[in-house]
Amino acid sequence: MVKDTGRMCTSCARELPATSLYFRFALAIQGELDVLDTGAADAADPRAILESMADLTSEEAESEVHWETAGVLCGACRRRLVDWLGARPLCH
Ligand SMILES: [Zn+2]
Repeated sequence: MVKDTGRMCTSCARELPATSLYFRFALAIQGELDVLDTGAADAADPRAILESMADLTSEEAESEVHWETAGVLCGACRRRLVDWLGARPLCH
């Protein structure tokens, strides 16, 4: 009898029983800025730049500058994610 872990693939929701191989992932996207010459006191803060350029609230700017997620993937979703990240240009 296979023990039911209740674990599911974060992407496709497939059940991941205790006997199956699964893949834990963590992904963070961090906005960075190397050089800026506006003369503004807060010029080094990318959140301030986003707020002023894109008319975002400070909460929206914060989530633009730092976004992260984590979970577990089945083998098929792991392959798709690795293909997507490694082999294709990121465009719409
Ligand atoms: Zn999956």
